[in-house]
Amino acid sequence: MPLTVAELLDYTTRTGGDPTDSDTRLACINEIIAEGHAISWPPPRNAPCWCGSTIEYKKCCGRPTT
Ligand SMILES: [Zn+2]
Repeated sequence: MPLTVAELLDYTTRTGGDPTDSDTRLACINEIIAEGHAISWPPPRNAPCWCGSTIEYKKCCGRPTT
């Protein structure tokens, strides 16, 4: 799931947590998942890749390497 620094800092500002602490980051991620913002893996068929290339996942990062 995507997590930006801004989202993490927003979370730690609200909760008083330490953004460098792994437990704090995990709690932040769990909150985002609980709010329904997690993205299923892999992207749906013919959906654009998550890396932002706008190419289908299977033709981008999901492409088998040789
Ligand atoms: Zn990609």
